[in-house]
Amino acid sequence: MSTSQSNVSLSFEVFPPNSHVATKKLFGTLQELQDLQPHFISVTCSNRESRIEETTVRIADYLQNDLRIPSIAHLPASYLSKEQVTAIISKIEKAGIKRVLALRGDYLDGVEAKTDFVYANDLVHYIKTLAPNLEIFGACYPEVHPDSENRVTDIKHLKKKVDAGCNQLISQLFFDNNMFYQFKEGCELAEINVPILAGIMPIVNRQQALRLIKVSDSHLPKKFLAILEKYEHNPIALRDAGLAYAIDQIVDLVTQGVAGIHLYTMNQAETARHIHGATESLFLNN
Ligand code: FAD
Repeated sequence: MSTSQSNVSLSFEVFPPNSHVATKKLFGTLQELQDLQPHFISVTCSNRESRIEETTVRIADYLQNDLRIPSIAHLPASYLSKEQVTAIISKIEKAGIKRVLALRGDYLDGVEAKTDFVYANDLVHYIKTLAPNLEIFGACYPEVHPDSENRVTDIKHLKKKVDAGCNQLISQLFFDNNMFYQFKEGCELAEINVPILAGIMPIVNRQQALRLIKVSDSHLPKKFLAILEKYEHNPIALRDAGLAYAIDQIVDLVTQGVAGIHLYTMNQAETARHIHGATESLFLNN
């Protein structure tokens, strides 16, 4: 067996909590994640957030400089002006953060969006001219973005985003790997040749499962729904089966040659540690 380093990445996503106490707890969680040596940790940013520098950028700065973990600051821009984006990018660069996830962001009910960045590709283009050394990531949707008419137009728009300067893509979470494989095939046909990291969210509690069933646009395979139904009232079995399902997805994706796995950790170090422990060798050896 080859022992050469695989270039499949394992990365994590965290979100800035709303309260001071939870933020303090998150910094402890990030220290725990440091032991797992992820390729990077990305930090989300709400479109409602008016203090991006104090939330997302502060956490990404802590990861990058205190913990020495490469970080990505998410930047949704539909409610930002060019001047605001310029100021945020300047803060990001000054902090030594080398990557951003350029996003349109979701629209807020009853709040009119600004017009400086209508689509993420406008933001990618702007960042590219403003800060050519930043590595730019973009979002993609194996099961089609909900605003899109169909798969073909969605991939055409994605191609524009990549051509504007996206270096890598991170996918929306999915529970059916076939959806991801079909999407990747579509990207190959459209000559989208950047690495596409697969977004995986382990379902570890009932609240998370119920929310998922209510709001998700993802196809939930029978095998997955059976787990949620059978262990709905057995928290430990639900956690174990949810983790096993995510591990099974990861093994299949890595075996099929995925560029990387991006784990939606929901700020739970325990979840990331469990998945990392069960799959570590897949990320080390070819
Ligand atoms: P876009 O790439 O602009 O696409 C949005 C829609 O417009 C799509 O239907 C697309 O097909 C269409 N479109 C794109 N370009 C064009 C064009 N040139 N002409 C016509 N139509 C076009 N949201 C947050 O608020 N904060 C976060 O931190 C965050 N993190 C995310 C991380 C990941 C990995 C993912 C997958 C999503 C994340 N989101 C986040 C959600 C995201 O902001 C929403 O899904 C949003 O609705 C779309 O953002 P986008 O950047 O993908 O938009």
